[in-house]
Formats: sequence, C-alpha cells, structure tokens
Amino acid sequence: MKVGFIGLGNMGGPMAANLVKAGYVVTGFDPVDAARALAAEAGVVVAASAVEAVVGAEVVITMLPSGRHVLDVYQGADGLLAAAPAGAYFVDCSTIAVSDAREAGALVVKAGHRALDAPVSGGVVGATAGTLTLMVGALAEDLEAVREVLDPMAGRVVHCGEPGAGQAAKICNNLILGISMIGVSEAFVLGEKLGLSHQALFDVTSTASGQCWALTTNCPVPGPVPTSPANRSYQPGFAAPLMAKDLGLALQAAESTGTSASLGALAAALYREFADGNGSGLDFSAIINEIRDAS
Ligand code: NAD
Repeated sequence: MKVGFIGLGNMGGPMAANLVKAGYVVTGFDPVDAARALAAEAGVVVAASAVEAVVGAEVVITMLPSGRHVLDVYQGADGLLAAAPAGAYFVDCSTIAVSDAREAGALVVKAGHRALDAPVSGGVVGATAGTLTLMVGALAEDLEAVREVLDPMAGRVVHCGEPGAGQAAKICNNLILGISMIGVSEAFVLGEKLGLSHQALFDVTSTASGQCWALTTNCPVPGPVPTSPANRSYQPGFAAPLMAKDLGLALQAAESTGTSASLGALAAALYREFADGNGSGLDFSAIINEIRDAS
C-alpha cells in the first residue's frame, strides 16, 4: 500500500520512518524544514505540499497538533479529501477532541473514503521503537484492511469501537493518568512531611492498593524507579503541556456529555497552570515540585 503521511514532527517523523523500514513507500509533508529534512534522511519521499503527498495514496495518515489542524487540512478544494484517490483510508493518529474526530470521520465518509481515528500512547520513545499502543475507532473491516500498515508503528492495536471511539479511550485513559499522578505526588509530599522515606512509601504502595502506573513506572520522586523522568531532572517523558491538552479534551467531553468529573476539572486546572508556568518543558510528573512548593 502507498502511504501519504502528513505531520512529520516529534511523533510523526519516527512513525513514518518505521513504515519506510517495513518496506512501504511513504510520501510525507510538513511545513517545517527541519522535520522534512529528518524525514528525508529516514527515507520518506518529501512532497512539496500536503495535497501532493496524498496523490495516489491508499492510506493517508495524519499526525497533527490539534483537531483544527486535522479539519483544516482535510477540507476545501485544496484539502486532502479532494486530493486522495476514492476509497482511501484516512487514519488520524493525532490526539483531538472526540467531537472533532466524529466531525472529521463524517467528512471522510461523505467524500467517499474510509475513516479511522487511531490516537497513540507511548510517546516519542514508543514512536521511535515502533511500540506505540494504537486506540482505534473504525469499522472492523476498515481496521482489518489497514492493520498491516499500522503494525510497524505499534506494539499493540486495540479496536475500541466505531469512529471517535479511539479518541474517547485515549482521553479517558489520560484522565485517569492526570488525576493519579497528582494523587501519587500529594502522597509522596505528605510522606516527606511525616518523615517517611521515599523508598519505604514506594515499597508499601507499589504492592498495596495504591499501586498504579504513575507510581510504579513514572514515579515522581528520584530513586525508587531508576528509569522514571524524576531521575533525569524531569526531562520528558510525557510533557506537562501535552497532559494539560489531553485533560482539557477530557473536560470538554465531560461537559458535553453531562459527566460529573470534579477531580478531572481540578486536575485540568492544575496542569494548565503548571504547563503555562514552570512545567512548560518538563515531564508531567514534575507537578510534584509545585505541590511541595505549595506545602
Ligand atoms: P509536533 O508539534 O512535534 O508535530 C506536529 C507536526 O505537524 C509539526 O511538525 C507541524 O509542523 C506539523 N503540521 C502542522 N500543520 C501541518 C499541516 N497543515 N500539514 C502538515 N504538517 C503540519 O507534535 P507531536 O509531539 O508529534 O504530536 C503530534 C500529535 O500526537 C498531537 O496531537 C499530540 O497530542 C499527540 N501525541 C503526542 C505524544 C508525545 O509524546 N509527543 C504522545 C501521544 C500523542
């Protein structure tokens, strides 16, 4: 299958590179010179525009910053929907609002193509290693038709339901993650105040009912989990601004569905403030320092 890849940034660049390694002809576009140069080095055929990248493509993958970017690049006389061959599979891997994903999916189908949303988790490390988890919202037959193209980018592909369901799963997961990281951080700061060592608290909670990914994989204090970002001055990892973005999307979905999400709202506000201030270049687990400073 011929692949058009739009958005060759931190995630899209290595994802496209893994498709090239697997033997696909990938034609890509990004407006940023450096992104285009890196992609070309990895064997991506760099096109002069997004439209040129999808001419003749059976699969069109987008990896863009926001829902606005996806909707804009899809639509209009010079949009991707008009430029791709009839019946192309449009796979959007960006993290966007569920409502934007549904709107994009409807536009894709109306234009005579096939719609899949496939947001990812695993970060730049997973994108580079080809071990991302892809959460797919699509008709089952559409997922089966493109599964072999998704595989070189993925460690795991989960079919979550119809178009939009992938984005829904992604923001629900990150709602849990954002809230649990704040909970773990508050517990460690409280433990410090009570004279507990980080290791003692970790040894108990990691095997007791407080156990969670924020604690055992991305532990916000240095020491107990040597590979966590806390041990390298909180270099991401999963950057705080991305967590703020995802919690904002979760909150938007909660509001539009009338879901009571008090902790989600609080976590979203705390991460927005952190991302706009001290946390702009840091892993999301560095929020523990704000909690300590406020204590
Ligand atoms: P990024 O900013 O590095 O890459 C996005 C790229 O899109 C940029 O290079 C930008 O120039 C390009 N772009 C913008 N408009 C374009 C257009 N019209 N045509 C072609 N290219 C265009 O961001 P990223 O970290 O690669 O993230 C991409 C998406 O993946 C986001 O939705 C993000 O939330 C999601 N995501 C990121 C991570 C992560 O750890 N970075 C993890 C999971 C999900």
